[in-house]
Amino acid sequence: MRRRIRFGAVVLIASPELDGAGGPWDVVIVGAGPAGSIAALELARAGKRVLVVDKESFPRFRIGESMLPHANRLLTDLGLMDRVEELPHVVKKGLEISFGDGRRDPVAIPFARMLGDTIKQTFNIRRSVFDQMLADEATRAGAVYRFDERVESIERVARGDVRIRLSSGPVRANWIIDASGQACVLGRHFKTRRLLEGYRNISYFEHFEGVRRPDGERTGFATLAMCRESWFWMIPIDERTTSVGVVVDEAHAKRIPVPPNRRLAWCVEHCPLVADRMKDATGPTTNQVVGDFSYTCEPFAGDGWFMVGDAAAFIDPVWSTGVTLGIDTGVASARRIIEVDEGGRTAASAATSYARRFARLRSGFHGLISNFYDHSFRELLVSGHGPLDVDAAVVNMLAGEIFEGVPFQVRWRWELMRWLREINRHRKVVDWIRPHSILQAGGVALPSPRAGVIRGLRRGERGRPSWQPS
Ligand SMILES: Cc1cc2nc3c(=O)[nH]c(=O)nc-3n(C[C@H](O)[C@H](O)[C@H](O)COP(=O)(O)OP(=O)(O)OC[C@H]3O[C@@H](n4cnc5c(N)ncnc54)[C@H](O)[C@@H]3O)c2cc1C
Repeated sequence: MRRRIRFGAVVLIASPELDGAGGPWDVVIVGAGPAGSIAALELARAGKRVLVVDKESFPRFRIGESMLPHANRLLTDLGLMDRVEELPHVVKKGLEISFGDGRRDPVAIPFARMLGDTIKQTFNIRRSVFDQMLADEATRAGAVYRFDERVESIERVARGDVRIRLSSGPVRANWIIDASGQACVLGRHFKTRRLLEGYRNISYFEHFEGVRRPDGERTGFATLAMCRESWFWMIPIDERTTSVGVVVDEAHAKRIPVPPNRRLAWCVEHCPLVADRMKDATGPTTNQVVGDFSYTCEPFAGDGWFMVGDAAAFIDPVWSTGVTLGIDTGVASARRIIEVDEGGRTAASAATSYARRFARLRSGFHGLISNFYDHSFRELLVSGHGPLDVDAAVVNMLAGEIFEGVPFQVRWRWELMRWLREINRHRKVVDWIRPHSILQAGGVALPSPRAGVIRGLRRGERGRPSWQPS
């Protein structure tokens, strides 16, 4: 018999039939972010005994507040969209993008422009409330949460015999799902986590009030501002609060002449577009910092284990793919465990098909992200138009509509865009734009012209130290 004990908003289910050593559970999930809680919800609804452990106490801050339309599709299927709508959030119907010099109005990328009959909106939300809601829903379905519990070591990982050590003692389970985010608990255990060369970036961010937002048809849009060695986001997350952050190439970040926890303000000051939007903003004078966030832990599944969300891989936040990928892979891993336990497929085929799907998504997003760091692609993007509806297909791609495969009408146009990108390097397809450098604007010499992740700069655009910002 199970006994329910209420701790604040969270209901713990004490199971006297489990031994004091903490098991055996059907599934132990490390991490109570979106990826872990969605997996827990799906498994608990199928009647599995699920233990979720998280080293932090909830609600807790997390960066990553902007979703993709696919998240709405998944949350609707799971019956959770009504819960989202009860929480403070902002409906997101697109984004706008520009170079950071502020000389041109940002170009709109409205989801309404997408080709095909697909979901054309999503939402931005404060992660502390979103993640808490998901944990509450999984708890209601019967999952057991233990917060302030750290996984200290992994002792054995095999289907039917998973043994881990928590801060409070040992736990056993038949399966383990690693949803530990950037901690990559299994990736580090298996020593498979490797950083992605070419994406050595650091991010500085905070929440502010009073940031000037796009209005009219652009209400709710996220704004991206691109600079030579960095890019900024401004994401409205509720009626008053805007998430503001900058991603800077590591080699350049080291030259910013203020300590890491003050670099957001320094970068904003030297980016005219963002400085203008933030001139009446109020918020903290220091910022949060995260680095080394581009990595992969392939393979993503094996005998008795799955990695989901950031615990498997993360490349770059630019197209807001992280949380949606976490939700998608949380569902995908849980459904495979259920199918195997019900005898519907073998464990080996479940792991292989999951790992293949994750690898396909990761490589699709990698392609999108690498285009963003290509200067010629950026110039095409801010031109806002293209032949044969190529710009509409680009919106489909940037909205992350690759989860269920890319439809032919989008695929060939995306290929065409890549051709245009190559031609534009050498012959003007659109206006060539010299990128604004926040370092140069701040009077700091750039490292070698080749340093940095942005590719495809033409000779004169490399920002040799003798240049003054335009
Ligand atoms: C600068 C930046 C901006 C971003 N912006 C966006 C965005 O706009 N949109 C978007 O979709 N994504 C964004 N992301 C990505 C997003 O933050 C992640 O993809 C998302 O949080 C992943 O969710 P998750 O559930 O996999 O992991 P997380 O939400 O990170 O949850 C992992 C949990 O595991 C717990 N944990 C870790 N180690 C242990 C341990 N040893 N024992 C127990 N518990 C443990 C942690 O406490 C944590 O609660 C951004 C990322 C960065 C770096």
